[in-house]
Amino acid sequence: MSDITENISLGSDTYQCIHCGAALKYKPGTTFLHCDYCGADTPINAKVVDEVEELDFEQYAKDIELLDTQATKVICCRKCGAESTFDESMKSAECPYCSMPFIESDVHMERLIRPSYLLPFKVADNEMQSHMQTWIKSLWFAPNKLKQRALYSNKLQGVYIPCWTYDAQTNTDYSGQRGDSYTTTVGSGKNRQTVVRTRWSYRSGHISLFFDDVMVPASGMIPSDVMSKIQNWDTMNMVDADNRFLSGFVTEKYVMNMTTGYEYARRRMEAEIDYAIRRDIGGDSQRVDSKKTRFSNIKFKLILLPVYMSSYTYGNKLYHFFVNGRTGRVTGDRPYSKVKITLAVIAGLIALALFAWFVNNQG
Ligand SMILES: [Zn+2]
Ligand SMILES: [Zn+2]
Repeated sequence: MSDITENISLGSDTYQCIHCGAALKYKPGTTFLHCDYCGADTPINAKVVDEVEELDFEQYAKDIELLDTQATKVICCRKCGAESTFDESMKSAECPYCSMPFIESDVHMERLIRPSYLLPFKVADNEMQSHMQTWIKSLWFAPNKLKQRALYSNKLQGVYIPCWTYDAQTNTDYSGQRGDSYTTTVGSGKNRQTVVRTRWSYRSGHISLFFDDVMVPASGMIPSDVMSKIQNWDTMNMVDADNRFLSGFVTEKYVMNMTTGYEYARRRMEAEIDYAIRRDIGGDSQRVDSKKTRFSNIKFKLILLPVYMSSYTYGNKLYHFFVNGRTGRVTGDRPYSKVKITLAVIAGLIALALFAWFVNNQG
């Protein structure tokens, strides 16, 4: 059971070394597949993406069968429910989210939508140590022990996270009110005072906004707030979703479908349209009475983003952290040191007391 890949044939695409026959893995930051056994590199002649092709949302929403799908072996974790796919080059087959070892009965076949593009891993896992150290040093109020502990964390696992992206042209007609503040004096004699009042005037207008690549993570495991912190994806460097880039990495199965993803994207677009309306109205405060938005030319695609993840236990609690596989930027849960926070609070109180003493003794 230690080496599950001997028992189950995982994934349909395994690339073998032409020199020794071993399973090849994608080498982050390069366009090569690497052989861990003989050290040979095999080039991936990936197609350069000249123009990113996107699919028409309404057409595919009407007929989901049009989407390009492939039969895929999916592993569902018995402990946490994460569903992922990976290939035979993976030596240790364990769940990237909870480290549970997989067994053969966890595998089932499914037809999944083929992603269009991906961002290959750029940072190699052996370069991660320095990124981790930088992150830990930057933490305020972290327990000292954490600084050693996190370096001996569970295995760092590279996972491709599925993500929907949406484009849309929007045209909005609105009507609302603009509030301009002014000050005036009211009352007389002892009751005389200056007050701030708002003068309201009606406004209407038209807002035209184009949204490009609004990203909605389709992951069931990474919370969306974490995903938004791992941002800054250089999507201009995406390549065709060639399976060779997935060799040696886990790929999480998308759990959110394209129509639910669009609902999320649309809400984000609407929030931005609201903001644009308020800016257009101007003044000191705004009221939006009505608005009508037409969404047209809606396009979408499914892409894969590279994220390293791991966890560490500290004080009987499991902390997760995530790393942008392109930039090495770390995001994660972390414990706070009660001792350090207490000391900081005491130091702050002493500073305040000293300040008060100086002020009182000035004159
Ligand atoms: Zn080899
Ligand atoms: Zn799991």
